[in-house]
Amino acid sequence: MFESLSSKFSGIFEGMSKRGLLSEADVSEAMREVRLAMLDADVALPVVKDFISRVKEGAVGKEVLDTISPGQAVAKIVNDALVESLGGAGVVPLSFNAAPPVAILMVGLQGSGKTTSSGKIALRLTAREHKKVLLASLDTQRPAAQLQLAQLAEQAKVACLPIVSGQPPLEIAARAMDTARREGYDVVILDTAGRLSIDEALMAEVGAVKTLVNPHETLLVVDAMTGQDAVNTAQAFKAAVGLTGVVMTRMDGDAKGGAALSMRAITGTPIKLVGSGEKLTELEEFYPERVASRILG
Ligand code: GDP
Repeated sequence: MFESLSSKFSGIFEGMSKRGLLSEADVSEAMREVRLAMLDADVALPVVKDFISRVKEGAVGKEVLDTISPGQAVAKIVNDALVESLGGAGVVPLSFNAAPPVAILMVGLQGSGKTTSSGKIALRLTAREHKKVLLASLDTQRPAAQLQLAQLAEQAKVACLPIVSGQPPLEIAARAMDTARREGYDVVILDTAGRLSIDEALMAEVGAVKTLVNPHETLLVVDAMTGQDAVNTAQAFKAAVGLTGVVMTRMDGDAKGGAALSMRAITGTPIKLVGSGEKLTELEEFYPERVASRILG
């Protein structure tokens, strides 16, 4: 990544000797490239502006060591700042620091990948962390949503709360928690109903479930391809029900990851997991370094 970014910068710094202090003019010129890359990756404009001014401040006057070129020095400063803005190096794991059964509440708009991600997380917790997981669908809105989760559970070889036709979401949630307590489950993943767009009925329903089950994690599932809309969705859910993390799906698509940066910068909520395909195994940790290089192209 440094190579591609520093090669973009190389022309800019041609006139500058190998050693020296980065001047305001040099840095401004390089930031023009960074700004274009970020806008191209669909990062929200206020986030781009804030980022550029912070980086400029930190870079101007910095000494370039003789082991690297000025282009490489600025590329490193930009990359480090971007990783920091994406949440810093390393991953933020799901938290299970509570007495079992620990509830994970999955929220988001319809089509974001919520049900698929519930299945993926269930598989991961079972296979990698040897947790005893119960999946439960509270989605009584979309026909066949409960069946879809049951099928995913079967594929993942994870238990799924039996479907009781006509039972409302809050009662399903209570039944799931009761079952988990009685049968000794470590984790209960509750897949809530989505809507096509944010509406008050949706938020009220999710809020009521949250109050009832007191989940340890409330994870918003958003589609990375929806860019700025994903950020608006996150703000609305954060304000209405509170969030502990984001699962960003469809990172296998063309999205360059700008939504991830905007999301983190605007909502402050960590992106904990990334969907990288339709298969149940296609779930990854969120690595800020990888997304940074994707944004800078
Ligand atoms: P829900 O309405 O939010 O529950 O969404 P679904 O879980 O039903 O997912 C909608 C569609 O997106 C399905 O066809 C999934 O296979 C697909 N999908 C979910 N996550 C990903 C992902 O990370 N990458 C890709 N390419 N497709 C995904």
